[in-house]
Amino acid sequence: MIELSSPAIRATILVVDDNLSNIEVIYEMLTPTYEVLFATSGLEALELTVATHPDLILLDVMMPGLNGYEVCRHLKADIVTQHIPIIFITAVGQTDSEEKGLKLGAIDYIAKPFSPAVVKARIANHLELKRYRDLLADLAWVDGLTGVRNRRQFDDFIERELRTAVRADRPLSLIMLDIDYFKHYNDHYGHLMGDDCLKKVAQTLESSLCRSADMIFRYGGEEFACLLPETNAAGAMAVANRMLDVIQTLNIEHVNSAKKIVTLSIGVCTLIPQQRSKIENLIVPADKALYRAKELGRNRVEFADE
Ligand code: GH3
Ligand code: MG
Ligand code: MG
Repeated sequence: MIELSSPAIRATILVVDDNLSNIEVIYEMLTPTYEVLFATSGLEALELTVATHPDLILLDVMMPGLNGYEVCRHLKADIVTQHIPIIFITAVGQTDSEEKGLKLGAIDYIAKPFSPAVVKARIANHLELKRYRDLLADLAWVDGLTGVRNRRQFDDFIERELRTAVRADRPLSLIMLDIDYFKHYNDHYGHLMGDDCLKKVAQTLESSLCRSADMIFRYGGEEFACLLPETNAAGAMAVANRMLDVIQTLNIEHVNSAKKIVTLSIGVCTLIPQQRSKIENLIVPADKALYRAKELGRNRVEFADE
């Protein structure tokens, strides 16, 4: 790998070509505007793509070893790299190879000799489209108010994590959290302050997580859920108690609650999965434990012990 550009917040383009003089031409053309990375073989291109997640790839077709089509096929088959736009840029100008490239999922195909201005304009267009796609993808999973994952994500992830837990025979924990007396909070401080409070609580819960696999979701209204893969009951209780503490430490005034500050009630459930385990085996007991935490006076953690 040869990295020729300085770090900056510019789009990164990976240029893949086995011919160094081609690379030089493209580098001269793109480097005033973009970060430019190079790979001189298909294999190197795959490694570099996984390592750096470029915003766009310019891919030569004819290369010894893995050719451009094969590189494209690999990248489009991998969920992590399939969203990266690929433009074939090559001397092979026949329409059938152009069709083949596009069918493999490439977004565009540029035949040599090319006009630098046209190539630059096409790259700019594709990057703009990618920015919109990325934005839409983000909007689809983020809860608009709090910035944490939304309910739809919860439904997806709990199914996915349950299947993984069953396959790997590993525990899966769920924490359900509900803000105490939040209706009173809205009534006293108004809806806008209520929204602010929800945001603060969500962000604080999110930043209290330690493992990268752990996830916070807005389950609905003033209720949150936290999924903890590969986490046993003791681990989940430790996380839940930490959450109880960090929200108290925020010290958000709430005159109409028992503690005079915003607090949570929390229910925790840990599933040792079996072949026929369903998400209800996790959600229902966690919900019941949360309900018990409310009944027992709120601002506490209860474990689903049935
Ligand atoms: P408990 O201690 O039993 O949980 O009581 P609670 O008042 O928190 O529970 P309840 O379910 O009665 O009320 C939930 C409140 O949360 C009512 C609703 O207006 C408020 N709420 C739900 N979503 C939002 C939101 O997006 N913004 C604001 N500001 N309030 C919300
Ligand atoms: Mg509540
Ligand atoms: Mg509620």
